[in-house]
Amino acid sequence: MLIAGLTGGIASGKSTVSGFLKEAGAVIVDADKIARHVVQKGQPAWQKIVDVFGSSILLPDGEIDRSLLGDIIFHDPEQKQALNRIVHPEVFSENATRLREIEKNQPDAIVILDVPLLIESGMDVGLSEIIVVYIPESLQIQRLMHRDALTPARALARIGSQMPIEEKKKRATLLIDNSGSLEDTRKQTLRIYRLLKDSLTQQGIS
Ligand code: ADP
Repeated sequence: MLIAGLTGGIASGKSTVSGFLKEAGAVIVDADKIARHVVQKGQPAWQKIVDVFGSSILLPDGEIDRSLLGDIIFHDPEQKQALNRIVHPEVFSENATRLREIEKNQPDAIVILDVPLLIESGMDVGLSEIIVVYIPESLQIQRLMHRDALTPARALARIGSQMPIEEKKKRATLLIDNSGSLEDTRKQTLRIYRLLKDSLTQQGIS
């Protein structure tokens, strides 16, 4: 098994690249999906969130109102930290469980850890490869406005609340430049997938 991290800035094309990697045969471990799973009613993070944020953040069915919680933390860095302190360890632990299962059942897998905050959360540490999907900020604003129907001011606010894409670019061991066509990005992605496959084969030989 070989594990590579995949990240980018908001609307830089991470989901697009993740889809291409999946098509190529990679096993995708999606941190957003895991994060949604660990806060579901009955999961360990649920109770901790209710203890800290109160039951007013619950929907009538008892699930956490993620959109309300998102609004709260977007405007309050301390609350954001408090939430991260609850959710991150649960995501780490669930992530480790899934990796162990893949290792057991698919030892030849190329595993892609698809994590929006890979670098910010420190999950990049120990990974052999960090794939960053990059576009310049000016294009990031355009694509984000288009995808989420946002005004320029709102798009800028979202982008401004994240680590700058240029910083993430510096941390890449493998870079995918998604400023061109989708076809161009697909080709870059397949090249990287083959490289990862070769690297896994080499590990097996050595
Ligand atoms: P992320 O997952 O990083 O937030 P997405 O993969 O959702 O980003 O891409 C952001 C938006 O840009 C989406 O609407 C997507 O369809 C579009 N997009 C992605 N790559 C390209 C590209 N190479 N050319 C044009 N549009 C693109």
